[in-house]
Amino acid sequence: MDRLNALPHAYRLARRDARPDGTVVTLPNGAKFGGDTVAVCAGPCSVESREQIQATAKAVAARGANVLRGGAFKPRTSPYAFQGLGADALHLLREAADAYGMAVVTEVIDPRDVPLVSQHADMLQIGARNMQNFSLLREAGESGKPVLLKRGFSATIDEWLMAAEYLLVSGNEHVVLCERGVRSFDNTTRNLLDIAAVPLLHSLTHLPVIVDPSHGTGVAKLVAPMALAAVAAGADGLLVEVHPDPQAAASDGPQSLTFAQFDALMGGLEVVAGALGRRIPAATLAT
Ligand code: PEP
Ligand code: MN
Repeated sequence: MDRLNALPHAYRLARRDARPDGTVVTLPNGAKFGGDTVAVCAGPCSVESREQIQATAKAVAARGANVLRGGAFKPRTSPYAFQGLGADALHLLREAADAYGMAVVTEVIDPRDVPLVSQHADMLQIGARNMQNFSLLREAGESGKPVLLKRGFSATIDEWLMAAEYLLVSGNEHVVLCERGVRSFDNTTRNLLDIAAVPLLHSLTHLPVIVDPSHGTGVAKLVAPMALAAVAAGADGLLVEVHPDPQAAASDGPQSLTFAQFDALMGGLEVVAGALGRRIPAATLAT
């Protein structure tokens, strides 16, 4: 038996043959993870102000992003670093997304905040640091909201699928996996982006898989090439950090794209997706 077939198939609900046609997760604005169209989630690492999130939503929607990302509750390594604007950011995200026809994805770090975040967001993000926070997984699962489950930075594929299984077993079928890099021996890049995980997961699970080249590399100039590589490898979507002025960002400035860099990325993406018989979302005209 080859090594892949020998993987334990204890993930009964996530395994590929549980749904051979593949799961498509659809958000209220029509954004789809798992169809012919590549989902494009873009926005700042953290929501910092009304002006910042409005300007970013406008710029990324005009180029085809269909899901607005932005941290409201930030899982920072240091307790002294910017922790996010919390509930205020949820309102700002909703307002900006609605103005440009986008859906909202934002991270929830505390099981007690799942009802609050669910009120404003269309999709709950479970971050790398919480991939195995089982009470958070159960709470997010029971909310019924679509969940974006990021890979823990030292998680194996098997552990990641088991974390997804926690969501599925609580009755929530709307689960999307997000590869965001794993820790390696070499800190030249922030993480080592595991693009092989994309086709591998497609063979192991019916769940859609997206890639986050921003946290995956930590370096803005590496984001576009890795985004294109991810889509070439079959990713169902991207999660990309974009900021009006990356140098002034409250978090993750070095890996955040300017609006012009995001435009260039989308131009390349259209070509790569097209070559593979896929599409990028139609741009939403500014209101
Ligand atoms: C994020 O997307 O803002 C984030 C904190 O990512 P990760 O959990 O992958 O580090
Ligand atoms: Mn970030």
